[in-house]
Amino acid sequence: MKGLSEVLKNSDNVINGVAAAPGIVIGKVHLYHRELISVDNQDIEDVDEAIDSFREAIVKAKKELSKIFELARQKMGEARAEIFSAQMMILDDPVLIGTIEDRIRKEKKLPEYIVNDEISKFQDLMVVAEEFYLKERALDIGDIKNRIIRNVQKKRLISKITPGVIVVSESLTPADTILFSKSEVKAFVTDRGGLTSHTAIVARSLDIPAVVGTHDATHTINQGDLIIVDGFNGHVFVNPNESQLKFFNEKITLMLQINEEMKDLVNKPCQTLDGHDVSVFANLDVTEEISHVVANKAHGIGLYRTEQIIEELGELPDENEQYQIYSKLASKIYPRTITIRAFDIGGDKVKIWEFKEANPFLGLRGIRFLLENEPIFMKQIKAILRANIHHNVHFMIPMISTVKEVLKVKQLIKVASDELNVEKYPHSKSIKLGIMIEVPSAALMVKELAKEVDFLSIGTNDLIQYIMAVDRGNDTVSNLYQEFHPAILRTLHHIITEAALQNKPVSICGEMAADNQAVPLLVGLGFTSLSVSPSAMLPIKRTIRSLSFEAAKVLAEKCLACDNEDDVIKHVSEFFENQHIPRTRTIL
Ligand code: PEP
Ligand code: MG
Repeated sequence: MKGLSEVLKNSDNVINGVAAAPGIVIGKVHLYHRELISVDNQDIEDVDEAIDSFREAIVKAKKELSKIFELARQKMGEARAEIFSAQMMILDDPVLIGTIEDRIRKEKKLPEYIVNDEISKFQDLMVVAEEFYLKERALDIGDIKNRIIRNVQKKRLISKITPGVIVVSESLTPADTILFSKSEVKAFVTDRGGLTSHTAIVARSLDIPAVVGTHDATHTINQGDLIIVDGFNGHVFVNPNESQLKFFNEKITLMLQINEEMKDLVNKPCQTLDGHDVSVFANLDVTEEISHVVANKAHGIGLYRTEQIIEELGELPDENEQYQIYSKLASKIYPRTITIRAFDIGGDKVKIWEFKEANPFLGLRGIRFLLENEPIFMKQIKAILRANIHHNVHFMIPMISTVKEVLKVKQLIKVASDELNVEKYPHSKSIKLGIMIEVPSAALMVKELAKEVDFLSIGTNDLIQYIMAVDRGNDTVSNLYQEFHPAILRTLHHIITEAALQNKPVSICGEMAADNQAVPLLVGLGFTSLSVSPSAMLPIKRTIRSLSFEAAKVLAEKCLACDNEDDVIKHVSEFFENQHIPRTRTIL
C-alpha cells in the first residue's frame, strides 16, 4: 500500500485542517448553514408584552438546553455534560436578565434587539481575548444568544438531518454536535475551531471523526458531495478519485481488522516474546475515559492531568468538587492505582488568570505556579489525601527543577494532613509521592531527587522541548523536535540507571511511550512501565507482545552509540522489518 504522503502529493482536492477526533469515514455531505439570526431595532408600544415574550423565550431556551444536557449526560457522562449546565447557568444569571429587562423598559425596543446587543458585548470581549480558551467559549455564548432570539421570534429549532451523512459547517456549537449525533452523523468538518474547542471535545467523546479549522471547507464543498474525512491526520478529500477511494477503503479495512484483533488482546498478558513483563498504564485527560480504561484492563492510571478539569469547567474546582472527582476515579480503578498529577497550570496550558510572561514555557508553570499560589495547591493536596482512603492514589508533581521544591511539597502535604485532622475529614496520612522528570536539571539530578520521592515519571513531551530547546507547539522548528535524537536517548538512559541505583521505579508518560516506533527502544533501555492515552493502550501492548526483549536491548545499545537521529531511525526501521512487527492503529 502506498503511503499517505504520496497520496497527498498527487491530490489537488484536499482540504487541510486540525485532526480533532480520530477515524476515517467516507460519506455524503450535509452542508449545514445555521439559520442566520436577523434582528431589527424596531420601537415597541407594549413593554409588558415584550418582557413577557423575553421571559417565555428564556424558559423555552432552558427547556431545550436541559434536554440537550440530558442527552449529553447519557452519551458523554456527567463531567463532559457540564458544558451545557454552564450554559444553563447563564440563562439564570439575574444580572444579565435584569439588565436586558431594564433596557427593554427604557429603550422600548424589540427584546431580540436588546438580547443581541447585550450578549454580543460579552461575545466580542471573548473573541478578542488573547486566551485561546476564551476565544473558543465565545461560540458557546453565541449559541445562547441565538437560542434566546430564536425563541423570542418563535422559530423552531432544526436539528434533524438524514442519518449517516457527514456534516460540513462553518462552525458547530456543542449543542449542534450532540443533536446531530442523534441522527448518526458519520463525521464533522468545520471551517472554524481548534483541538480544544468544545465541538472537538464532544466529537472525541462521542467517537465521531472530526476535522476542524479548515478555514474554507464550506466554500469548496457542495451539498451532496462525496468526501473522505481522515480524522487521524486532519485531511478532507472532496469528490475523491478511484485511487484515493481505494487507498482509504484499504485503510478502513485495516482499521476494522486491527480493532477486531485488539479486542482479543485485552485478556492477554503484556509481555515480550521472551517473557519480559511491561506494564501499560493509561493517561487520563477526561474522567469519562475511565470506563474504556477499566474495560481494556490497564495496569492503572499512570497520569491524570487534573488541569483538564479546569479546562472543562472553565474555573477552578473547589476542594469538595475535586474530592468527588478523585475519589470516584480511585474507586473505579481500585484495586489498581491512579497517579493524580497536581495542576500543571501555565505554559501553553490553562491559565487561571492573566499573567503576562515573555516566555511562558520557562515561566510560572506547574509546581512553580502552585508554590506561588499555595491556597490553590493546598485545596488540591487535601482533596487528594481525602480521596486516598483506600491507598490506591499516588500524587505526582509536574515541572520539578530543584530538590528544594520537592522538600516544600512534602512539608505542605504534612500541613494539609494536619488541617484535615482538625477538620475531622477521613483521609490518608501518607501518600506515595512522585515527580515528573521533564526539565533537564531534574534529569541531571535524578539521584538526589529520587532519594526524596517514591517514584519518577518521565514527561518526554516537555523533556524533549527543553533538551532540544524547541517549543513543542511551534511548527517552524518542529524538525528539531526529535524524540529519537541520541541526546534524548542518552538522557533516558541516565535517568533509568540512576533511579535503579536508588531503587525507585521510573515510568514514561509522555507521547513517546505511545509511539509504536519508539516502544522497542524504550523496552530495550529497560523501561517496564509505560503510560499512554487510552486509545493507544492496546496497540502498544500488541507491539510489546511482538518483540523480543533481548533483541530490543541490542537495538537500544546500538542507538545509544549513534551520533545523530537519522541513524537511530534507520536502526529502528530495520528492527521493525527484522522482527516482523505488524502495523497498528496509531501508525495508520
Ligand atoms: C509530558 O510533558 O510529557 C507530559 C506527560 O506532560 P504534559 O504533556 O501534560 O505536559
Ligand atoms: Mg509535561
